[in-house]
Amino acid sequence: MKTELGPYRLAVLLLSALFLAVYTLASRQSIALKGRRGGESNMTKKLVKSDGEWQKTLTSEQYRILRKCGTERAFTGKYWDHHEDGVYSCAGCGQTLFASEDKFDSGSGWPSFREPGTENSVSEHTDNSLGMSRTEVKCSRCGGHLGHVFNDGPKPTGLRYCINSAALNFSRADKPVKKIDDGLETATFGAGCFWCTDAAFELLDGVESVKVGYMGGHVDKPTYKQVCTGRTGHAEVAQIKYDPKRVSFADLLDIFWIVHDPTTLNRQGGDVGTQYRSVIFYHTPEQKEAAEKAKRKLDAEKKFQRPIVTEITKASEFFEAENCHQDYYSNNSAAPYCQAVIAPKLKNVRDATQGTRQR
Ligand SMILES: [Zn+2]
Repeated sequence: MKTELGPYRLAVLLLSALFLAVYTLASRQSIALKGRRGGESNMTKKLVKSDGEWQKTLTSEQYRILRKCGTERAFTGKYWDHHEDGVYSCAGCGQTLFASEDKFDSGSGWPSFREPGTENSVSEHTDNSLGMSRTEVKCSRCGGHLGHVFNDGPKPTGLRYCINSAALNFSRADKPVKKIDDGLETATFGAGCFWCTDAAFELLDGVESVKVGYMGGHVDKPTYKQVCTGRTGHAEVAQIKYDPKRVSFADLLDIFWIVHDPTTLNRQGGDVGTQYRSVIFYHTPEQKEAAEKAKRKLDAEKKFQRPIVTEITKASEFFEAENCHQDYYSNNSAAPYCQAVIAPKLKNVRDATQGTRQR
């Protein structure tokens, strides 16, 4: 439970606070706190199950393909002729694998993609079965067989990831960002416990609202309790509506990097599990590019002592969390978790945005 602070957890928290203190943000005069106007999957931890467990959790067709390297008949799967906007995840473990924008009609009768949707989400292996030399594609998390990759795909990659529909699940994309109506844009970040992420972004001028919720999983309308098991594949996220005229996506990214440790895989301090993974869910190609660029730059400059493990994935459906999790910090600021974990992070945000202690 997040509200209990054992000695181990306190030690981890102190280390996290130290880490955050060491990391200083290059001063960006453009980010302002509210009231001071004018002034980011990686789920590659392996999932191992016994053959018996796989048989229990998968349908017989999924089992035949994922665990026994089977192939569905061409033109029979549910996704070869599927054109909705969204993301495809592993039917075995829920890891995000492919994005609809990389899907193309190959005429083969199997869903075909130019490239994986997320770095390191698939692994490739030589397959000499059936008297041919092919490259097998597996889910990097559960080792499930997905299909093969061939060199006859379209530009720019020239690759064709030929994947079995039965190895995939599909989630529709989050509602498109409306740029005209209210002039606001949407950003979605997973940075560990969403109570912290919420409180940090709420501080910024130009941020109109922050809602916490769940994204990137394979269960419809998950509850907090389900997400906490780590088995739904969702990350705890903060979804931010912001005015791009007052605060840019790059500014939000700067805050994202300082409110958590993007180098620890599937954990933030004492919070451990894929639901706490560091992830940027992009809503536009521009956000994707900005996120990848920022990650590369911080790694190149060795801003952190270890490589950044932040997953950069296309946004999927956002499920708003229960009311008791919204504005958690402002409603519970005296609680031990808020004092020990959230308050120091907010101080870092204030310091990074011109060193003010005022809100
Ligand atoms: Zn998998």
